[in-house]
Amino acid sequence: MSHHKSRTLAGRDLAPETLMMGFGYDPTLSEGAIKAPLFQTSTFVFRSAEDGKRFFEVAYGLREKEPDEALGLIYSRINNPNLEILEDRLAVWDRADRALVFSSGMAAISTAMLALTRPGDTVLYAAPAYGGTEYLFDRILPRYGVKVAQVLATGGTEALKQAIRDTAAKAAEGGGRLAVVYLETPSNPTNQVVDIAAAVAEVHGLGQADRPIVAVDNTFLGPLWQRPLELGADLSLYSLTKYVGGHSDLIAGGCLGSAEVMARIAEMRTICGTATDPHTAWLLSRSLETLHLRMERSQDNARILAERLRAHEKVTDVLVAGGGAGEQRAIFEAQCQGPGSTFSIRLKGGEAEAFRMLNALRLFKLAVSLGGSESLASHPSSMTHSDYSTEAKGRCGIGDDLIRLSVGVENVEDLWVDLEQALAAV
Ligand SMILES: *Cc1c(COP(=O)(O)O)cnc(C)c1O
Repeated sequence: MSHHKSRTLAGRDLAPETLMMGFGYDPTLSEGAIKAPLFQTSTFVFRSAEDGKRFFEVAYGLREKEPDEALGLIYSRINNPNLEILEDRLAVWDRADRALVFSSGMAAISTAMLALTRPGDTVLYAAPAYGGTEYLFDRILPRYGVKVAQVLATGGTEALKQAIRDTAAKAAEGGGRLAVVYLETPSNPTNQVVDIAAAVAEVHGLGQADRPIVAVDNTFLGPLWQRPLELGADLSLYSLTKYVGGHSDLIAGGCLGSAEVMARIAEMRTICGTATDPHTAWLLSRSLETLHLRMERSQDNARILAERLRAHEKVTDVLVAGGGAGEQRAIFEAQCQGPGSTFSIRLKGGEAEAFRMLNALRLFKLAVSLGGSESLASHPSSMTHSDYSTEAKGRCGIGDDLIRLSVGVENVEDLWVDLEQALAAV
């Protein structure tokens, strides 16, 4: 293995934050540039016709790659150095065989679902999931003959396991199969954690020949505070727009897993053309160098703010991942290394009080999204989840009194002053 792909030094396994500075990039191929240049190019010149032929054989799956053979560069919808460097580095964090990057989180999720399902299959997902994901499952996949079933993320582990068994049995009765179990944890915006390892064990216990894939949207806590693949999941999916990009200046997605599953998703990405562009990949490689600093600092800030908010007279509840008692606490401790920095509060009152607070904030920006270096606040009931029925909002705990905060890396005392003065306006 060449030097730039080495993960150890003097017998020591190097940490991801160290590898982010050079892993997967060979400066001698780029005039010695310390940083990978931006390969803003659509196509690549072959050294010979024979090379072109060999590259296509691998890209189109006509033959297996030799053990040490790199995928030849062909065309930027198929591969590009900026994408490959980024993918190698993302795979380090999640301990994945392979990563693929996409033009958005939704591109990653939809391309993976198209690759892993066929007509007659069933997908089971834990709700609430991200709005775009629910739309894909409820409104788009059924057009292609894929059946979709739901289990409540807030229902607990027994209900999740039961739903996996029941859905698999029902799919088999209809002559189909349960193809994918899709989890998003912690759930948005109430931060309930869903037991990944329990879902994996249940899926393995089904005895289904073509066993279902367990896919986890890891956007909220990954890759620092939760690693689904280590818990036995098959796919870790990301909106890289959030913490990984981390500066609210790009849209991108990621999907990580075993070589075998990722090969199926890579085929679909090439044909659907859902890969990201070189410039976005370049920005993300830069972001990865400070990922741990940003996630640690924002989590520290969030911990302090959550604790103070819990004691505030106008706040009735603070919803932090793992913050509940009993099963919630146990799942969190087995599954997560930290609660992250996106959490929600409930205020005394309803929409009027919530809006007064949101309109009074000066440092927290009033915007959806999360995971950026700056702090954001939003009102799920009237914004991200406004298309939920009153009944669905009730079931998922999304009241008019709920405000979601994504805490950034600013000075925490400044942020506290902002929250205090905004709460005084309620
Ligand atoms: C934002 C988000 C997505 C969608 O990602 P885009 O990059 O906006 O396409 C998916 N899942 C979760 C949990 C998200 O927060």
